[in-house]
Amino acid sequence: MVKQEFKAESKRLLEMMINSIYSKREVFLRELISNASDAIDKIYYKALTDDTLTFDNDSYYIKVSADKDNRILTITDTGIGMTKEDLENNLGIIAKSGSLAFKSENELKDGHDIIGQFGVGFYAAFMVADVVTVISKALGSDEAYKWESEGADGFSITPHEKESVGTEITLKIKENTEDDSYEEFLEERQLKAIIKKYSDFVRYPIKMDVSGQ
Ligand code: ADP
Ligand code: MG
Repeated sequence: MVKQEFKAESKRLLEMMINSIYSKREVFLRELISNASDAIDKIYYKALTDDTLTFDNDSYYIKVSADKDNRILTITDTGIGMTKEDLENNLGIIAKSGSLAFKSENELKDGHDIIGQFGVGFYAAFMVADVVTVISKALGSDEAYKWESEGADGFSITPHEKESVGTEITLKIKENTEDDSYEEFLEERQLKAIIKKYSDFVRYPIKMDVSGQ
């Protein structure tokens, strides 16, 4: 008997996931911050075994910036970054986790901090954003790339300028409707409360910068 593999209608799967696996929209921020923290951890672990790399605490942080006037929320990290292939594979294949792969490649056992494993958290961003843009430069690479998507329709990857290694994720926050308000994701006080609630355990500094009114 020949077993067949399941195929998936990826557009519908993504839509279903975005709208049903999370109980609350606000957890998108936990997902993006945990990815940023994982990305910094990866440099930390690499530095343990690579003499050419040093891990100096002050250079590693996560930053959450909101531009209220333009409804833009940005999550920046100084972590390991992504190559073009990483962007294609890790943000282009649903349920593919680069972090899970990193853990097994580096034989990280219990006690490590890397959180990612299911390969779906990133897409939570589409619960609150119409457009998600990821600009990333990988450690050891001279090139940087921009990944952009409006959700189920797919994504594009193009070369882009970026000075330093790391990742910048920009969310174009949805407009409010009669039933739904997304305002809290642009307000300093509420963003801080969400971070405190879900990301208190993150061991890298989370900076915040809010502009506009
Ligand atoms: P998971 O965190 O469970 O692996 P995600 O959907 O949250 O799944 O992320 C998918 C993958 O994309 C991660 O495993 C990682 O390889 C990559 N990734 C996401 N965000 C970042 C980031 N800020 N820096 C580097 N890599 C990232
Ligand atoms: Mg994740």
